[in-house]
Amino acid sequence: MFKPPVDLDSFSEPVRKLWRKMNPCTLCPRNCKVRRSEGETGFCEIAGMPRVSSVGPHFGEEPVLVGPGGSGTIFFAGCNLGCVFCQNFDISHLRYGSERSIEQLTEAMLALQNRRCSNINFVTPTHLAGPIAAAVESARTKGLTIPTVYNTGGYDSVDTLKLLSGFIDIYMPDMKYADSDVAKQLSDAPDYPQINRAAVKEMHRQIGDLKVEKGLAERGLLVRHLVLPNRLAGSFEIIDFLADEISTSTAINVMAQYRPCYRADRHPQINRYPRADEIEQVRQHAMQRGLTLIR
Ligand code: SF4
Repeated sequence: MFKPPVDLDSFSEPVRKLWRKMNPCTLCPRNCKVRRSEGETGFCEIAGMPRVSSVGPHFGEEPVLVGPGGSGTIFFAGCNLGCVFCQNFDISHLRYGSERSIEQLTEAMLALQNRRCSNINFVTPTHLAGPIAAAVESARTKGLTIPTVYNTGGYDSVDTLKLLSGFIDIYMPDMKYADSDVAKQLSDAPDYPQINRAAVKEMHRQIGDLKVEKGLAERGLLVRHLVLPNRLAGSFEIIDFLADEISTSTAINVMAQYRPCYRADRHPQINRYPRADEIEQVRQHAMQRGLTLIR
C-alpha cells in the first residue's frame, strides 16, 4: 500500500518532480506509465515505496569505495533490466526484501555513517530515484556528510538524472553492451546502448571524472564494465566511446567476475566463464586508450 513521505510539500522541487514521475511512471526508459502510487507495477515490479533487501557495510566493492569502514550499501529489490545472467536474481527478480518508509531509509543512511562507512551506496536505484532523493535530502538535514553512490545498471533516463543532480556524488553505472541485438537478447532492452551512452554523458556532465582523496572516492564517474565471453559485451566499442566522447581520464573497472547464473544456460554464447586472455585484451585496450583502470 502506498505511504507518502510525511509531507511531500516540505521537500525540494526536484524531489517532488521525481515523485510525480512515478505517477504515471516515466522514471526510467521503460516508460511503463503505471500509477505506482496506487499500487500498480511495471517492468521493475515495485510500486510506490522502496523494497530493501539488505543494509550494511560491504567490503567487496572497489577499494576506492570501501576504506576501513566499508561501503554502506543499501540493496533495493526489483530492477528495470531483465538480464538473463543476473547474479542477484533473488533480489532483482524475486524481489526479496521489505518495504521501507522515507524515514526508515533516512535513519538507515545515518546509521551507516555512524558505523564509519565511507559512503552510502544505493544498489539498483533507478526505479526508486524519487524515494532515494527524498531520503538523501532528509538525511543531509540531519547530518549526513559522506558521499552518495548511484550504483546502477546504466539504463537510466536523462530527464530523471537531471532531477537527481546534487543528490548524487558518485555515479557508478554499468556499461553492459554496445550492440542492440545483444542487449535485447540478454537484458530485454534493445535501446540499451544509446540510452546508456546518453546517461553516462549526463552523469559525467554533472560530476566529472572520479576524484580520489587518500584512497577514497569523493566525487565523479566510475564506470563498471563486465567482460562477457565471446566479446558479446562490445568492450572495445565501449572503451572507445569513453575515451572519445566522455574523457580520457574516465575511471573504469573492467570486471572479470562473469559466471553463468540464473538463465544463462539457455544462451550458449554466455554459458561459460570468460577466458583470461579475453579479459586481458580489454584491460590492455583500456590502458592504451588512456583510461584509468580501477580494480
Ligand atoms: S521505473 Fe519501473 S515502472 Fe517506472 S518506467 Fe521504469 S520499469 Fe517502468
